[in-house]
Amino acid sequence: MARYTGPVCKLCRREGEKLFLKGTKCFANKCPFERKSYIPGQHGKSRRFKLSEYGIQLREKQKLRRIYGLLEKQFRIYFEKSEKEKGITGENLLKMLERRLDNVVFRLGLASTRSAGRQLVRHRHITVNGRLVDIPSFLVSPGDVVKVRDKSKRMDFIHDSLKRVREGKLVPWLELDKATLSGHFMEMPNRQDIPVNVNESLIVELYSK
Ligand code: SF4
Repeated sequence: MARYTGPVCKLCRREGEKLFLKGTKCFANKCPFERKSYIPGQHGKSRRFKLSEYGIQLREKQKLRRIYGLLEKQFRIYFEKSEKEKGITGENLLKMLERRLDNVVFRLGLASTRSAGRQLVRHRHITVNGRLVDIPSFLVSPGDVVKVRDKSKRMDFIHDSLKRVREGKLVPWLELDKATLSGHFMEMPNRQDIPVNVNESLIVELYSK
């Protein structure tokens, strides 16, 4: 599946907030958003206009799509699936995005960003319930065990990333075993536990027009 390959820091500037797409760089002084928080482009500095209702909804959707590294078509498919599920559409959408394998690898701390998590999956370093899975969009279910493949357990990339995982900082629906480089997806996440700063109801309104 295609993915965005352009400069990601520009996306934070476009959305007017830090989206944390670059791992440790996002927490360092090197973060470009700290120096240039205006919209990218020749006239970015002077573009200070009030957004319309549609504009606000659109920006919210773009923000969420960019956080999870999805293209419009993929994002729309997730939305349509979440509409068909029981419950609140916006919350269903977020829960489904959280279940993506590349996101679970990132949340477990096996990779420092979602795109690095995606690469780990694509390069066949990850198993789910003992079976190799190389599809980043694979949806992890409650009870599943996500593990680094035995052959890949010595990768510095994974250990460097894990060093930054602080005890007690994991999201509540995941359990990490650092010794075996495996994670347990215990239950479906609750919306209030998903640390993503978006108003998903604006996205539902946008797509309902
Ligand atoms: Fe955004 Fe991180 Fe780049 Fe800063 S370093 S602009 S937070 S992606």
